[in-house]
Amino acid sequence: MLVSQANLNLNFDTNSLQRGKRYFSQGRVQNLVRETEGMSIQVLRAEVAGSQHQHYITEVRFDRYLPGKISTFCSCPVGFRCKHAAAVILQANYEEQTFTVKTEPETGTRNTSHTAEIWLERAATVSSSSDNSSNPSAWRTCCTSNRTAASKRYR
Ligand SMILES: [Zn+2]
Repeated sequence: MLVSQANLNLNFDTNSLQRGKRYFSQGRVQNLVRETEGMSIQVLRAEVAGSQHQHYITEVRFDRYLPGKISTFCSCPVGFRCKHAAAVILQANYEEQTFTVKTEPETGTRNTSHTAEIWLERAATVSSSSDNSSNPSAWRTCCTSNRTAASKRYR
């Protein structure tokens, strides 16, 4: 989830949130684009269909590490922290859940087990390669025969 319910409550009044939820569930958020600026600024841009066939351009930005502080801009008369911005965030939350890219670096409890798995895999690779080097006669034979071949070639 990009923005938690608690942070939504912090940044939007109940009325805007409820209307935003309705706009989101009605599929009014269109052409949502997610961009990252710098290391941690998440930018969401979308068009939101208004109540009278207008389309508003809405932009939401927040720092992933400071998700309690959300800046919003909207071309509607309210201008900021409006229902359109709330709807955009809900849509982004939804898309994040549905199409999460597995390779994206994430901080979370989920990742800890994954990292442990990678670590275990690496440990297994290291121990199996040390098994190979613990048999030096095979390695030496291979190396010597190569060297002999090479010295013959250059003679
Ligand atoms: Zn608006």
